[in-house]
Amino acid sequence: MMSAIARMATLYGSSRNIFLCRSASSHMPLALARAVSTESSSVATRLNSSGLLKSQALIGGKWVDAHDGSTIEVYNPATGEVITDVPCMGKKETNDAIASASNAFHSWSKVTAAERSKCLRKWFDLLMIHKEELGQLMTLEQGKPLKEAIGEVSYGAGFIEFFAEEAKRVYGDIIPATLPDRRLFVLKQPVGVVGAVTPWNFPLAMITRKVGPALACGCTVVIKPSELTPLTALAAAELSLQAGIPPGVVNVVMGSAPDIGEALLASPQVRKITFTGSTAVGKKLMAGSAATVKKVSLELGGNAPCIIFDDADLDVAVRGTLGTKFRNSGQTCVCANRVLVQEGIYDKFAEVFSNAVQNMKVGDGFGEGVVQGPLINEAAVQKVESLMQDAISKGAKILVGGKRHSLGMTFYQPTVLADVKSEMLLSREEIFGPVAPLLKFKTEEEAIQLANDTNAGLAAYIFTSNIQRSWRVTEALEYGIVGINEGVVSTEVAPFGGMKQSGLGREGSKYGMDEYLEMKYVCLGNMS
Ligand code: NAP
Repeated sequence: MMSAIARMATLYGSSRNIFLCRSASSHMPLALARAVSTESSSVATRLNSSGLLKSQALIGGKWVDAHDGSTIEVYNPATGEVITDVPCMGKKETNDAIASASNAFHSWSKVTAAERSKCLRKWFDLLMIHKEELGQLMTLEQGKPLKEAIGEVSYGAGFIEFFAEEAKRVYGDIIPATLPDRRLFVLKQPVGVVGAVTPWNFPLAMITRKVGPALACGCTVVIKPSELTPLTALAAAELSLQAGIPPGVVNVVMGSAPDIGEALLASPQVRKITFTGSTAVGKKLMAGSAATVKKVSLELGGNAPCIIFDDADLDVAVRGTLGTKFRNSGQTCVCANRVLVQEGIYDKFAEVFSNAVQNMKVGDGFGEGVVQGPLINEAAVQKVESLMQDAISKGAKILVGGKRHSLGMTFYQPTVLADVKSEMLLSREEIFGPVAPLLKFKTEEEAIQLANDTNAGLAAYIFTSNIQRSWRVTEALEYGIVGINEGVVSTEVAPFGGMKQSGLGREGSKYGMDEYLEMKYVCLGNMS
């Protein structure tokens, strides 16, 4: 048979953005007829009967196909099997979604904050009630271990809960007037229709981090999830309807990213673009937003340094580095991309860390005890391979792993590389894979210089038991997020975002609301 695996390899070879629409009119919720493993098949059957496996887009509260019936297949990266088809949409459907969001904005923005809060709270409750199924769906389409996927559902739902509460706290200001017969005010109002473009590595949380505050402020949204992981987004959207969020407030379209992007950018009705993804695409969306001067927030790529000082607690440093490096198979924007280790602790750290990495269990995310799943696609593995080749040709040494996993597909061995230098490509680019490069440094000043020697500025980590040093280094780091003696720091209550080319704006926390609000100054005159 021309297996799904072979098809996937062809489709996803090295150019995933040359996406392929299939002109097919049938899009059964589940392509069970195709060869699927028992585990995937039973998970998919369960999801299908729970109504959470959707295979249509959501526009104006209706589940719809592409206007020409074309579809794209969604794959399980652990097996290469097709899970289902979703519509392959473009400009026409995006414009329909914008029109429906625009209509819904008139009423949703007028609903009281308390009402919006109740709807969001109900959505949070439903996400949590269905967290196991959503986690399974995520593992199916994204590959991360089930426990991690369920963890993402709780994390992602947390944004909806947090912003349900924040909805009630959008205050304005009264400003002391400059003339006796005047009164000055600041009103905060929703920005309008929001275009939200999200990546595949966190199929739920990257959406809720945007949609939670947007809806809380009274905005309506058109979401474009990644073509690789649309199913979690669709299931979450279904639950938003069940929560009583009115039709048209949440719309989801998927398909041709450039066409959908262009339609969002061209529309004067879309007042805000919020994007999470690569720096290259973020720059395009920022440039494209200029024509209609949209408000823009960008959560882009990182190149996180993880700095281990001689005075670090070794166990804490090893645990923290494992957490930040290997979560989601190294495919997160805040993954340690460079592990900078001071010379006095270097050998010991390399030994203990390598032993821990050696013991990591790799496999299908549904497997017992698996802590690392596959990479998202063949292109991702090829990128890791080329960075490895470059590093080894320039003198890096493999301590653990270093090649594709014997499981085949897109599995890659958890890897530790020693003797890495800052001029190697993997020190300069996002690896987005399970490779931990160790770089040796001598002094604190050198560590800071190495850490800041990049255009990215998202997350950085420091391991030290010296409190003065931790503060000094934190202040010197050009990063939006700093973890001190901690490798996993994301939470809905704290601001997430980057400096330099890692982005604009912040998501999560009370600051996350500002991204979806306009400020209106009101001067009431002639009061005497
Ligand atoms: P990507 O290729 O930039 O894609 C992100 C999203 O943009 C996807 O929905 C993609 O659609 C869409 N897209 C691609 N080209 C587009 C265009 N011309 N117009 C409009 N939309 C377009 O990034 P990715 O590979 O999915 O995600 C990995 C990147 O995201 C990494 O760089 C990572 O660091 C970054 N990231 C950052 C954060 C953060 O908070 N800073 C969080 C997570 C990930 P298709 O997938 O359908 O092509």
